[in-house]
Amino acid sequence: MPSPLILTLIATAIIVQIAVFSTTVYLHRSITHRAVVLVPVVALGFRLALWLTTGIVVKEWVAVHRKHHAFPDEEGDPHSPHLAGFWSVQLGNIFHYVREAKNPDVIEKYAKDLKDDAWDRYLLNHGSVGLIIGITVLCTVLGIGWGLLAGVLHAILYVFILSPSINGLCHYFGYKNFDNTATNLQSIAFLTGGEGLHNNHHGFQRSPKFSYRANEFDPAWPVIWTLTKLRLARRYKTIDEALAQPQES
Ligand SMILES: [Zn+2]
Ligand SMILES: [Zn+2]
Repeated sequence: MPSPLILTLIATAIIVQIAVFSTTVYLHRSITHRAVVLVPVVALGFRLALWLTTGIVVKEWVAVHRKHHAFPDEEGDPHSPHLAGFWSVQLGNIFHYVREAKNPDVIEKYAKDLKDDAWDRYLLNHGSVGLIIGITVLCTVLGIGWGLLAGVLHAILYVFILSPSINGLCHYFGYKNFDNTATNLQSIAFLTGGEGLHNNHHGFQRSPKFSYRANEFDPAWPVIWTLTKLRLARRYKTIDEALAQPQES
């Protein structure tokens, strides 16, 4: 039997990746950009996972992110490292995010199409409730001390390292395949379900697959591909498919 510390680290890694995949597949690719449409039961699974592991309110994240795409590294970008400073975004991404997410005008303008359903009204719009339930589950499984440690490690990794790396590092360092202000970092993509291929994403926002070149890997793509094959999802064109039909892209 592994030691409690090892079990806690394994649990943390699993929770981080559940949060990462829920963010990239559901929140980002499906709801924000409509690159993939999930059948309701799969979408609900992702919504619950996101709620329990991040407490994010969907329409807030979607609105802030759409505003980022409307003004990438220009005046109006909620979290540009070129305007706010690299370390301000890399370390303080959460503060840039909350300032926009709590602005009703931003939600109204950029997430007008998202209507709350009963799940949202009674449960999912109450992010702190999700987090409390998530931490309670961790403490029940691992014990109170180890459960709290897993929760803290997860928060540090998701809030202060992985999410900011997309908005900070991936608008600052790395290489470009397409002409936009974002950059690709494969190392970050391995940890963030493909989000680190951010230059590709800014170039083709509706592509459900973030990798483009043969040496790039998007960990969320096999998941989306499988869901599509199982008819649990429908998807928009990948970058390759869009480039093969330039008149439609
Ligand atoms: Zn970006
Ligand atoms: Zn996006």
